[in-house]
Amino acid sequence: MALFDPPSPSSTGQLQDGFGRRFSYLRLSLTERCNFRCTYCLPNGFQAQKSLPTELSRDEIRRAVAAFAKLGLWKLRLTGGEPTVRTDFTDIARKLAQVEGIRHLAMTTNGYRLERSAAKWREAGVDAVNVSIDTLDRTRFAEVTGHDKLEGVVRGVDVALGAGFASVKVNSVLLRELEGSGWDDVLGFVAHRDVSWRFIELMRTNDNAGFHQRQATPGELVRERLDASGWYALARREGAGPAVEYAHPDYRGRIGLIAPYSSGFCDSCNRLRLSSRGKLHLCLFGSEGLELRDLLQRDDQAGELVERIEAAMPAKMRGHRLHEGDSGATPHLASIGG
Ligand code: SAM
Ligand code: SF4
Repeated sequence: MALFDPPSPSSTGQLQDGFGRRFSYLRLSLTERCNFRCTYCLPNGFQAQKSLPTELSRDEIRRAVAAFAKLGLWKLRLTGGEPTVRTDFTDIARKLAQVEGIRHLAMTTNGYRLERSAAKWREAGVDAVNVSIDTLDRTRFAEVTGHDKLEGVVRGVDVALGAGFASVKVNSVLLRELEGSGWDDVLGFVAHRDVSWRFIELMRTNDNAGFHQRQATPGELVRERLDASGWYALARREGAGPAVEYAHPDYRGRIGLIAPYSSGFCDSCNRLRLSSRGKLHLCLFGSEGLELRDLLQRDDQAGELVERIEAAMPAKMRGHRLHEGDSGATPHLASIGG
């Protein structure tokens, strides 16, 4: 089957929640660790806590992904923290690409290792890569991430574009301090590159409440800008994420908008999350998560694992409560994978 070609739900007995939403997409956090310190996520860098359990091993990860694939989840994203700080990242990707039922293996990265490793990850079976770039201004990039690495990250995007990934996307968090600047840089970036540059509304987490109050800016401003300059919205593809994508005849790339604060955002939710320590999260902004790790220890626990995941689904909320300033139990997005 071709990449991105979804199986029909009836052939998979696909997992559903109490609102009839079907789940095709698992976001797997490989680690909470990160080598960047983005102002909105880990402003003080990753702080290790000795009391926390260790990260899932390769075998635990394989068992978990196999169970979700049995339940009809066919699209998998490796994220974190920064997933590529795991020295076994490529081995994990290679193993997961071979799990029966997984048809699409994507990753999200800050791009730190992209230039030197993109070809290796592609060869291991990763077919799509999202790279985080909040600004194309070198000084501001260094201020936001704590690292003067913009040029290397952009070179990494170009290496990825030449490495045969089915899609290369950029994630760019909308910050008030960056508003008004950089629009022309983004247009220049997508003019000749086959990438989708997706602006993401800053989400409030328990750790960034004050920052969010100062820096959040509505995605609507991007939409108005696109509408005013000849960009048109593309139809949403089956199994696609929540981004609305826009195209323009004069540009090779696309611009997208992910607006979690817009109404109806959660209606088409198709994703579940597994933390790097083995907890199932039904929502990015939900509860502490459901422990699965005790059922990831042996291959013969697969049946029980599938049953526990199925039994959890009725507890999935209709939507997040970010509008009420409620970020659930999420301290920052590195904790369960943004
Ligand atoms: N370290 C990788 C990276 O930065 O791409 C993967 C993990 S990161 C948590 C995943 C995505 O979440 C990144 O694109 C990041 O910019 C975004 N992100 C993190 N915190 C966010 C927040 N509070 N609101 C919106 N997006 C956020
Ligand atoms: Fe690290 Fe990604 Fe969070 Fe930035 S957004 S601190 S790169 S996990």
